[in-house]
Amino acid sequence: MKTEIISVGTELLIGDIINSNSKFLSEKLTELGFDVLFHSTVGDRADTLRDTILYSLSKVDLIILTGGLGPTADDLTKEVVSATIGKSLILDTQILARIQKIFDDKNIPMPESNIKQALVPESSVVLDNDIGTAPGIFVEENNKIIILLPGPPKEMRYMFNKYVIPLLNNKSKYKIASKVIKTIGIGESSLEYQIKDIINKHTNVNFATYVKDGQVDIRVSTKIHGHENIKKSLDIIGAQIQDLLGDYIFSTNSDSLEMVVFNLLNNKKLKIAFAESCTGGQISSRFTKMPGISQVFDTGLITYSNDSKRDYLHVNEITLNKYGAVSQETAKEMAKGLLSEGKVDIALSVTGIAGPTGGTQYKPVGLVYISLCTTKDCFCKEYNFNGDRETIQKQASDAAFNEIRVYLENLK
Ligand code: ATP
Ligand code: MG
Repeated sequence: MKTEIISVGTELLIGDIINSNSKFLSEKLTELGFDVLFHSTVGDRADTLRDTILYSLSKVDLIILTGGLGPTADDLTKEVVSATIGKSLILDTQILARIQKIFDDKNIPMPESNIKQALVPESSVVLDNDIGTAPGIFVEENNKIIILLPGPPKEMRYMFNKYVIPLLNNKSKYKIASKVIKTIGIGESSLEYQIKDIINKHTNVNFATYVKDGQVDIRVSTKIHGHENIKKSLDIIGAQIQDLLGDYIFSTNSDSLEMVVFNLLNNKKLKIAFAESCTGGQISSRFTKMPGISQVFDTGLITYSNDSKRDYLHVNEITLNKYGAVSQETAKEMAKGLLSEGKVDIALSVTGIAGPTGGTQYKPVGLVYISLCTTKDCFCKEYNFNGDRETIQKQASDAAFNEIRVYLENLK
């Protein structure tokens, strides 16, 4: 079914907010087997909104509009859609009672303007909004479907999942099943080369690679007609790819790198601490975004200056003077010093030059050392990253998580 998503809101046009609604809807609709052919964005203006709807009706069979369902004067999506398709608006007393109750519960009088949120186009399906005031609308007319959803992303997503998916079920001829395999440490073209035989063998399966900050995701997808059980064949393809790419793969179930590390530490009942220099706390920060991390995470120190490396991590003054703060020797002493506190099983350190200044001929911007020490092992790896400061910091923290992952996965 040909589909268009129309996002309504002047704030989108002037660049005030990012259009996250269309990203969400596109992902979901594609999965459900709808051909999303167009995204349109239009401001809160009746004339341009009307033109956009008319043009869209000439191109597609399913239109989803988000935004402009609120109580204020600039919210006019419902009014314009109804007028464009020749439907009058009627008061839905149930919706009005529900909106009235929201205000009664808060003990404040309902503004007059909210009454218009209870107006619905005649012979439409009303999608009740359990978490906000504006209801959604589903209209089917002349073999075209028009769906209106509120703009606030939380409400829009909730209503799409709860009401729109069941209403759209069976409207598309197929669904899309997909599996995402996440890799790190291998380039896109060399990855594609390594799995080319698998790609060539499965002609009914689509293989797409996406590069994100030094990670490459492989999306394996295929159309499902009826009730075919595709999941198993996708899992088999996933296992074949895993055989070829081995350690480069960190997730086959869409877990993030830090989540994989968290799970590994948790399963092995190990505690970790970080000493960060050029990543400025990013590793600890990414870790602490995950609830329950205290099970495995003990300490995160940002030891930026030479003095703090010496004072908090017991890095030898001679090491710092002889090899410099960005060196194998310093990285190792940072990790060893942290481990010597005796509180954790694994200590990891990062030291490097994030740039854009501070690089030299022998130690260029992007040079990063990552050291991982336990009571049994202690090693250090050198990396040479490219990019601006932010990119180098992100790549360094990814590499750090990856070091821990590979170490733990290969731990006997
Ligand atoms: P409300 O009752 O809040 O007025 P509404 O249905 O009228 O809801 P809008 O006025 O268009 O929706 O937007 C409400 C909020 O949702 C705004 O904060 C807006 O920034 C956000 N929003 C709207 N459209 C989008 C979008 N496409 N992507 C992300 N955020 C959006
Ligand atoms: Mg609004």
